[in-house]
Amino acid sequence: MPDEIHERITGRTELIALIADPIRHSRSPRMHNLALAHLGIDAAYLAFEVDEDGLAAAVAGLAALGARGFNVSMPHEMSIVPLLDEISDAARLIGACNTVVRVGGRLRGENTDGVGYVAALRERGVEVAGATLTLLGAGGAATAIAVQCALDGARAIRLFNRRDRFFAHGEQIVATVREGTGTDITLHDLEDLPALRAAVAESHVLANATEVGMGALAHLSPLPDPAVLRPDLFVSDVVYAPERSLLLRHAEAAGCRVMNGLGMMFHQGAASFRLWTGQEMPLDVVRAHMD
Ligand code: NAD
Repeated sequence: MPDEIHERITGRTELIALIADPIRHSRSPRMHNLALAHLGIDAAYLAFEVDEDGLAAAVAGLAALGARGFNVSMPHEMSIVPLLDEISDAARLIGACNTVVRVGGRLRGENTDGVGYVAALRERGVEVAGATLTLLGAGGAATAIAVQCALDGARAIRLFNRRDRFFAHGEQIVATVREGTGTDITLHDLEDLPALRAAVAESHVLANATEVGMGALAHLSPLPDPAVLRPDLFVSDVVYAPERSLLLRHAEAAGCRVMNGLGMMFHQGAASFRLWTGQEMPLDVVRAHMD
């Protein structure tokens, strides 16, 4: 596959898109175009900044143009659902889509965030089936992780969130996951230290799915008491910038194996790529060129 854009893009090149707002910072175009070029697939991945008022027209336009599919990111993951012809079980339970595939002219919504998290764990030798997880957070990332872990056979999930506007959403996650999968899932106040100690004591994995640890919150850990960490606990973070969040630094100091959010990011992309192309993303090649 040639490198030059005027040689690579032809009259037959298909479109895969990303719609979000804001989007110009996204690393997804680089990831997917590297993979498409490496495999010689005649398609290009382009990002479009689309605001809430433009969402319905953008989706209709992508369908009319015959795009292979597209990613959907903030703020459209939930509002896109009613615009699609069908959605996967995971996307229905999560209530949000990050990936849309055009199948025979119909738009099918999927959610690959949770799949990406589970695949990243598996890459580290951690299986979700039969495991107990303590999950910090009750927003979009936590929902995707909780639903997928439940679908993949987790024994129990202990959700913790502070009493902000996401706590009520946590109650919804618990109800939906229980009803949809029968998994043992409970929600607790992040300040309830006895409940946190008990949950972590029975858990194989402690996962941060809050935004604490990055940006303006980079100096904070979402875990109120690092003394709950013990060496046989696997600790993961959705945050990958910084590469080692304060939580992961505390966990490493306690002797835990740790994983940042990069694996989830790459594997959710790989899962979307598989849906659009039927092929495996060459993750080694992509990872080697993403820094
Ligand atoms: P969201 O806005 O839906 O949820 C935010 C969550 O953070 C809520 O649970 C909220 O209660 C919690 N929170 C915020 N401030 C807090 C504080 N000071 N103390 C304790 N909890 C606090 O966001 P989201 O879409 O779920 O994203 C969460 C994080 O996950 C972001 O950092 C995002 O970049 C990251 N993310 C990473 C990946 C990946 O592939 N690695 C994928 C999706 C999201």
